[in-house]
Amino acid sequence: MKSRAIVQVGQRELELRTFEVPQIGDEEGLLRIEHSGVCGSDWSQYKQGTYSGVIPGHEPIGIIEEIGAIAAKRWNVKKGDRVAIETMLPCGFCKPCIKGKYNLCQSAGGNKINAYGYHSIDIKPSLWGGHAEFMYLDPHTLVHKVDKDIPAEIGVMFNPLGAGVRWASRLPQTQIGDTVVVLGCGQRGLASVIGAKESGAKTVIVTGLTADEHKLEIAVAFGADHVVNVEKENVVDVVRNITDGEMADVVVEVTSGATQPVIDSLDLAARGGRIVLAGAKYNKVPEFNSNKVMFKELTIIGALAVDYQSYEAAIRIIESKKYPLELMHTHSFSLDQADLALRVLGNEVEGEHGIHVSITP
Ligand SMILES: [Zn+2]
Ligand SMILES: [Zn+2]
Repeated sequence: MKSRAIVQVGQRELELRTFEVPQIGDEEGLLRIEHSGVCGSDWSQYKQGTYSGVIPGHEPIGIIEEIGAIAAKRWNVKKGDRVAIETMLPCGFCKPCIKGKYNLCQSAGGNKINAYGYHSIDIKPSLWGGHAEFMYLDPHTLVHKVDKDIPAEIGVMFNPLGAGVRWASRLPQTQIGDTVVVLGCGQRGLASVIGAKESGAKTVIVTGLTADEHKLEIAVAFGADHVVNVEKENVVDVVRNITDGEMADVVVEVTSGATQPVIDSLDLAARGGRIVLAGAKYNKVPEFNSNKVMFKELTIIGALAVDYQSYEAAIRIIESKKYPLELMHTHSFSLDQADLALRVLGNEVEGEHGIHVSITP
């Protein structure tokens, strides 16, 4: 059997290639991909050409096509089950893994990532990425069952929703009645609205730009109480008004690239507030005033990726059908349109406003 797969071969260069599907051993499996979510990091990788010679895609949902006896027992799944696959392939032996922080697994060494979507096709059996017909399931794979009645293009949002649960609920320990400010309204900002609401937050305030108007409407549909266009209003003043000067218990920063939101977060947080920094920046943050952290006893939490419990919670939220998630999934593309899929996510295609984009073979 063969599998078609997208291979990144250079900067903005993708090729559709065909690979032999491997024989599956006792501890392994094979996933027939239904949808593979396109991540903001896929877009940066596409533009910069980092990790050349890989099959990108680390947010796949699909059907177990083949499974070894030991893997079936460990993962509690059988042939034909629908599963969502975690990005990371933790080693299980390094210190972060042993301490339960497997999202920080350091076994790959240096700046390499031990994860799907980042392994070279030169490492057998090559099928290490989701933007393909089939993906190999290594013994270290973390697997979550997903109800088959959910449309696959909705189920595939388990990854951004998992981030919303971890970043806006679990990490900052959001409580019933809290005020939560979410800075940024991309797929992870919108998912953070859901994460905050599910924790019982009373007031959720989301920021965006003029170009994000359609995303802010979705934030409201997901339960946001207020939206702020930061090009028209000063978010610190708006939050001061809304909260009668008490400010936010939790601030979740998920903008990509902008540094001003990090500076704002110190003013937006109430005394004793928690700030989650989850948006990657291209530059260092200038004029970071550490005195505000000290005098207000702020807790600043760095967030990288998602953990097992947050994925499980996200999948249960999807299965509950409680939120109009279809509003967030804007585009599905076939494998031979992978290039277009990336450019739509990167906002390079005139007239298209991609939020959650996926590739389906
Ligand atoms: Zn990702
Ligand atoms: Zn490890």
